[in-house]
Amino acid sequence: MGQTLTEKILDDHLVEGELETGEEIGIEIDQVLTQDTTGTMVWLQFEAMGLDEVQTEIAAQYCDHQTYQFDFKNTDDHRFLRSAAGKYGAHFSRPGNGICHNVHRENFAAPGKTLLGSDSHTPTPGGLGELAIGAGGIDVTVAMGGAPYYIEMPEVVNVRLEGELPEWATAKDVILELLRRLSVKGGVGKILEYTGPGVETLTAPERMTITNMGTELGATTSIFPTDEQTEDYLERVGRGDEYTELQPDDDAEYDDEIVVDLSDLEPLIATPSMPDNVVPVSEVEGESVEQVIVGSCTNGGYEDILPVAKMLEGQQTSMETETIVAPGSKQASEMLAREGWVAEMMAAGVNFSEATCGACIGIGHVPASDSVSLRTFNRNFEGRSGIEDDNVYLCSPEVAAAAALEGEITDPRNLDDVEAPGVELPDEYDGSKTDLISPDEAVDDELIKGPNIGDVPIRDELGTDISGEALLKMEDNITTDHIIPATQDILMYRSNVPKLSEFTLSRVDDTFAERALEADGGFLVAGENYGQGSSREHAALCPMYLGIEGVLAQSFARIHRANLFNFGIVPLTIDEDTYESIDQGDEIEIVDDVYEAVTSGQEEFSVRVNGEEYTATLDASERERSILAAGGKLSWTRDQAEDGG
Ligand code: SF4
Repeated sequence: MGQTLTEKILDDHLVEGELETGEEIGIEIDQVLTQDTTGTMVWLQFEAMGLDEVQTEIAAQYCDHQTYQFDFKNTDDHRFLRSAAGKYGAHFSRPGNGICHNVHRENFAAPGKTLLGSDSHTPTPGGLGELAIGAGGIDVTVAMGGAPYYIEMPEVVNVRLEGELPEWATAKDVILELLRRLSVKGGVGKILEYTGPGVETLTAPERMTITNMGTELGATTSIFPTDEQTEDYLERVGRGDEYTELQPDDDAEYDDEIVVDLSDLEPLIATPSMPDNVVPVSEVEGESVEQVIVGSCTNGGYEDILPVAKMLEGQQTSMETETIVAPGSKQASEMLAREGWVAEMMAAGVNFSEATCGACIGIGHVPASDSVSLRTFNRNFEGRSGIEDDNVYLCSPEVAAAAALEGEITDPRNLDDVEAPGVELPDEYDGSKTDLISPDEAVDDELIKGPNIGDVPIRDELGTDISGEALLKMEDNITTDHIIPATQDILMYRSNVPKLSEFTLSRVDDTFAERALEADGGFLVAGENYGQGSSREHAALCPMYLGIEGVLAQSFARIHRANLFNFGIVPLTIDEDTYESIDQGDEIEIVDDVYEAVTSGQEEFSVRVNGEEYTATLDASERERSILAAGGKLSWTRDQAEDGG
C-alpha cells in the first residue's frame, strides 16, 4: 500500500513506534520555534534541565506577541530571550521584526522537515510541505535538547481540492468553508492533507493561509504537497536550493476524504464569536463597521496586503471606520514601503502599524464598546480583542478592504468601480536582515535575568490520594484565553508564575485563584473541548501552581491535554451524565490509589462525588503516565537524565 505525504515525512523522522492511527510515535524534530509569551519559560526550563546547547538544525526565538513596551517587564523578557538564544545557539528575531510564523516561513521553513513550535499556529509552513506541529513549551524545550517528540499517530484526512477560485473568493474562504462544515472540533486528532487538481492553482502563501487556520479546526496540523508553486516561492525568498518534490503515492489510503470545489466558493465571513460561525458575506451585508484590521499570521503577508493597497488606491476609506494595516513581518512592510504602497494606503486613510501580533491578542487597537470590528485574523473568541462582549468578524483582506471603503460589511462583488485585485507575489522577498540575529552573530553568551524573570515551579511526584473541591465548573469550549488571558496587563507576568497565577480563570470567576490557593488542592470540571485555542502552557502551569490536581472534562483539546500531563495535573474524561451530576463546590475523591493506577496502566478510575461513584477515564500512553507520575515533564526529564535514559 502506498503512503500519504504525512506518512512519508513521519517515516523519515520516526525513532519509535509504528505509523498506525492511535499508536504513540516518537519523531525526530529538525526545527523548533518559540515566541516571547512562551519562550521565557522554554529557556528557563532548558536551563533547569541542565541542557547546554540547542541540538536541532534550526531553533528560532521570535518576539512578536508583546513588542509594545509599557514598562521594563517586556524589555527584560526580550533581553533575557536574546541572551538565551545567544548562550544556547538559537536565532533571535528582535521585537518588531514580525510574527513568528511569517518570519519563519520567509527564512527557515522547508519541505520535508519537521517543525515543533510553542505556538498553536506553528502548522503555517505546512503550506510549503513542512510537517509543522504546535506543542507546549516544555515539549519544545525537550525537542530542542535533541529528544524525540511523542504524539499519538493522528488520522490522515484527504482534503481534495477541485476547480479554481472564482474572482473575489480567496484562500481565506477555503478555510472558512472547512470551518463552516467541520466546526472548531472537526479536525481534532487529524492531519489534513490537501490533494487534488485545485492545489496547483494556489500559490504557496495562499496555501499557508489555509494551513495556518487549520489550527482553528483543532487539527494536529495541515500539509500540502510540493510542486512548482512551492519551488517558485522558495526561489523568491532566496532559498530555491531547499526545494524537494513531495507527493503522496497514487495508491495512498486516507482515513477520510473531504472534497472542496474551489469554483463553488464565495466570500465568507465568521461572525462573532467563534471562527466556525461562518456565513456568506452577503448574509450580513450592511452591518456597520467601526474598525477594520488587516494583518496577523493568517493574512499579514506582502501578498495579503497588496490586494488591499490596490483596492484602496486613489480612494478614501469611510469616515466612520478606522482602518489599520499591521503587516506580519517587517520585511513585508519594507517591501510595501519601497514600492510606494504604504504611502498609497496612508493617503487612503489607513493607519500603518508595527509588525506584531498586537491587536490579535488585545494589545492595542481594542475595539470601542458595542462596536463591530472586522479582522483578517484567525480567531474571534469572545474577549480576545481586549474587551468583553466584543463583536469581531473574521474575513479575507478583500472583504476587509470593501468594509473599509463602505463603512459597513460589504460583499466585494457588489463594489462599484473596484476591480478584483487577484494574487500577486513580489519578484523577490527582500528586506533588511538586521533584526534576525543568527547564532554566529550572538550578542550575548550569558543569561541576563532582570527582576521580572522568576523561577520555574516544579511539582512533586504524583500522590496516592487525590481529593478536593470542584473549585470551578465550566461549560464547553473553554479556551486557553479563558484560563490565562493574553492581554497586555496580564501577559507581562509570563515569566513570573506566582503573579500570573492570580489571573487564572479570572474571566470565568474572579474569585477562583484566591479560592484555589486557599483550598490547596482540588479539581476543575469542564464540558467538551476544554483548553482549546493556544499552546499557552501557562494555562496548565498556573493551575498547577495554585494546587489543582485534576481536571474532569468531557473532552480535551490536544495541546492543552499534553500540557496537563507535562505539569502533573491528572486529565480525566467523564461522560455527559457525570458532568451533569457534578456541581461547583462538590467534594470529589478519586477512590483508587492514584499513583498505582496511573503507573499500572489502569484506564477506568472511580470518582466519588458527594458519596456517589462515577467512572472517569485516563486515556494515556505509558510515557504520558510516567510523566504524570513524576509530577510533570521537567522532573521526568531530569529523572531520565539521572538514570542515563
Ligand atoms: Fe500572533 Fe495572533 Fe498569529 Fe497567535 S494567532 S501568532 S497572536 S497573530
